[in-house]
Amino acid sequence: MIIDLGLPTFASAPTGRSERLAAVRDGMLGSVHSWELVTAVDGPGTRLTVFLAGCALRCQYCHNPDTWNINHGRDLAVSGLVALIDRYATIMTVTGGGLTVSGGEPLLQPAFVTRIFRHCAERGIHTALDTSGFLGAQASDELLADTSLVLLDVKSGLPEVYRETTGRELQPTLDFGRRLARADTPMWLRFVLVPGLTDGVENVEAVAAYAASLQELGSGGSVERVEVLPFHQLGRDKWHELGEPYPLENTPPPSRELVDRVRGQFRARGLTVT
Ligand code: SF4
Repeated sequence: MIIDLGLPTFASAPTGRSERLAAVRDGMLGSVHSWELVTAVDGPGTRLTVFLAGCALRCQYCHNPDTWNINHGRDLAVSGLVALIDRYATIMTVTGGGLTVSGGEPLLQPAFVTRIFRHCAERGIHTALDTSGFLGAQASDELLADTSLVLLDVKSGLPEVYRETTGRELQPTLDFGRRLARADTPMWLRFVLVPGLTDGVENVEAVAAYAASLQELGSGGSVERVEVLPFHQLGRDKWHELGEPYPLENTPPPSRELVDRVRGQFRARGLTVT
């Protein structure tokens, strides 16, 4: 179930350019694309999912290319988002849910996320960070201490396939996952299965081996589950609207057999797979 909550007022945002940049750097202001109230996705329970604008990756299968440009988001003062969180705090907590910050890439705005998660921690609200991990070095220990769950998108296991899939390097994601595991931060690893792009046996094996290796760090067992997400074409119209050449124009969703094979590769490593 998805409820579009619409946009609140942004009245408190500063108007001067330098004043605005200072407020973004300080985390008093965020560039926000949209938000939704959702159930059974983006973490446990009913969640307020906030999509921040801006992303450093260019995933071929991205279904939110309209979040890529941080300048195309809407300015929202931290107080505005806090008010929205407080409005839905009861439904989030009674359903075992919480707040998820997604994107785009939330770690492009680490100070804003830090302030929001601090507020949630003070109110006892569960927090989930949905990230590729590429900018994991931007996340302070303070931010991670207030993070209940990380939804870590590992987009490929082989460096060259990761580069082809995202346009960026794999290593920062691997490093971030290890840091999380050493700190015993719960993780749900996510892997988008795209026929002809990420579905190679060796590529999947590399992700599965990495996920299994994380279970040996810290107190062990940080990876609570692996979500294998079948590719879909729901983002195609957005690529067209943006005038971006869409590389997966003719790529079908994976077959049942392929999804089963890939889930089986993760299960064979002793991982819980959904
Ligand atoms: S990290 Fe997410 S928002 Fe960024 S390009 Fe990839 S799928 Fe799109």
